Amino acid sequence: MKKYDLIVVGGGIIGTFSAYHALKKGKTVLLLEKDSQPFEASFRNFGQAVPSGQSLDKWFDYGRKSLQIYKDLQSETNISLVPNGSWYLASDDQELTLLEEIQKLFDERGYSNKLHSADECQKSNAYFKKDYVKGGLFLPEEASLNPRLMVHRVREFMIQHMDLHYQNLCAVVGVEKKRGIARVFTTTNQNFWSEKVIIANGRDTQFLLPEHYPATELKISKLQMLRLAAQKPILKPNILTGLTIRRYESFHSCPSHKKLTSTPEQTLLQNKGIHILFKQADDGSIILGDSHEYVQAGKQADFGFEISSEINEMMLNEAKKIIDLPQWDVDATWAGFYLQGTHSEVFTKQVDDVIHIINGIGGKGMTTSPGFTSEYIQKLYQK
Ligand SMILES: Cc1cc2nc3c(=O)[nH]c(=O)nc-3n(C[C@H](O)[C@H](O)[C@H](O)COP(=O)(O)OP(=O)(O)OC[C@H]3O[C@@H](n4cnc5c(N)ncnc54)[C@H](O)[C@@H]3O)c2cc1C
Repeated sequence: MKKYDLIVVGGGIIGTFSAYHALKKGKTVLLLEKDSQPFEASFRNFGQAVPSGQSLDKWFDYGRKSLQIYKDLQSETNISLVPNGSWYLASDDQELTLLEEIQKLFDERGYSNKLHSADECQKSNAYFKKDYVKGGLFLPEEASLNPRLMVHRVREFMIQHMDLHYQNLCAVVGVEKKRGIARVFTTTNQNFWSEKVIIANGRDTQFLLPEHYPATELKISKLQMLRLAAQKPILKPNILTGLTIRRYESFHSCPSHKKLTSTPEQTLLQNKGIHILFKQADDGSIILGDSHEYVQAGKQADFGFEISSEINEMMLNEAKKIIDLPQWDVDATWAGFYLQGTHSEVFTKQVDDVIHIINGIGGKGMTTSPGFTSEYIQKLYQK
């Protein structure tokens, strides 16, 4: 019987980077994933690593730390990091004021940025629409990753170079503390043993230790995304726009955020949780999104199974006001889901001294998980 130092349940970004940091500490690690390939939130997202959007207390710093971790990994193996920065494009004076205010906050934190006039934005990218763009903030340190590749590549790197043990098609159905260590058992009747367990099982909270996920503390968000036809390379950085400035947590620290007013048109979009982000993938396709609907954790059936064409139309119509893309043909549309704390920015729970849950990181997992899990693992092994 092999006993591991750590077993991680769930091959998404939280599970994968928890395993990474533990391996870096010289621990023996087994990572278990229920599907043949993990394909949940960590693989369906934009792949934008944008600390600028995170609350300016700890999460901005986790984002910056994550960028450094991605860079370090990229120097070892190609994890698909593209360090081309991010643009925030303001569509009116209120959003422009928020950009000016946040610029000061970024300056205070030593985070490189440059505010651009409408003309300068236009010069930097002729496809930005004149009617929409009133000014923009460029953040050169930010990056993007290919979500279809990144976590798989980090996992492969760990298997090849860090002696990670990995099993897919291995759904964990029980974790218990027995004789001071953890017993982890699976649908395939396998038993595994370890000193510690981290459960990072994403939105599927109803199957494994469901009693530890209080419905009042957690919700699930459903996001709709679109992929447009491949086209010539015109968008190198991440593009975040007016409704994003109004929505993202970091901007809540701006003095003018409290005074924001919305037009009826903006309100219609905001009611569906829509803000427009663009990203051009390496194959030239444009990823466009997104919208947000919410249900209580464990009740994802309440979303139904349809992609709403009304929401897709709303996103496309808004996007067409922002950038003059050569092509708007929709190649694919999908939904992604993530678990989110109702009142907290991440859901962590120590079931006992052996079993830990890390979940509910919400819409910031690609930006912050490597940094957040680094700190978590550090503390776990300090005790
Ligand atoms: C459409 C969309 C766009 C987004 N865009 C961005 C973005 O641009 N930037 C950003 O920072 N964040 C973004 N996010 C958020 C980010 O994707 C999530 O925060 C992050 O992926 C959550 O990671 P996770 O590891 O908690 O969950 P998941 O990726 O859901 O991973 C959980 C894993 O656990 C496995 N599992 C579950 N139960 C078991 C079990 N019993 N046994 C074994 N395995 C199990 C699942 O199969 C899954 O692979 C986006 C999310 C979505 C949906």
